Amino acid sequence: MPRQITMADGRVVEVECLSCALTSGLIVPAGGVIYESGNFHIHQDVAYPITGLVIIASKRHFYCMDELTQEEQSEYIALIHKVRSEQRTRLDIEKVYYFYNEDTTHHFHLWMVPRYEWMNQFGYSVESLRPVLLHARNRMNNEENNRQVIEGISKLKKGLKGFLNNSK
Ligand SMILES: [Zn+2]
Repeated sequence: MPRQITMADGRVVEVECLSCALTSGLIVPAGGVIYESGNFHIHQDVAYPITGLVIIASKRHFYCMDELTQEEQSEYIALIHKVRSEQRTRLDIEKVYYFYNEDTTHHFHLWMVPRYEWMNQFGYSVESLRPVLLHARNRMNNEENNRQVIEGISKLKKGLKGFLNNSK
């Protein structure tokens, strides 16, 4: 069943699977694609303007961790490791929260949510995640913050360029 999704830049899209729409290029996320490998697609979260918040989505449509092929498994961990390292060196991100659930309405994708000091007001660990994201969506959707988000995307893009022998 198609669902309506509101993107951080205000666009509302109706899709069966947002991950499919993004990884196939049907929807171009704000700031563009950060990196694309044979099996995965990396982009800024389209709904929440937090600098360095990255989503790693599979290109193939499936939901569960035990459905990853051998090739996808090794590519996946290499990408997470590389993104994390670029978040640290280029964006000074000290800690990251990782979130992934199998009962998603989109397909297989990992959220890498950087932890910033302003998030402490919402507590820590899993319980803080939802309020943090809502705060970002409702209170941080301004020109200055969005400029930083786009700048973060471009820094990560540079860091990932040529990774895994990819010319993109
Ligand atoms: Zn899909």
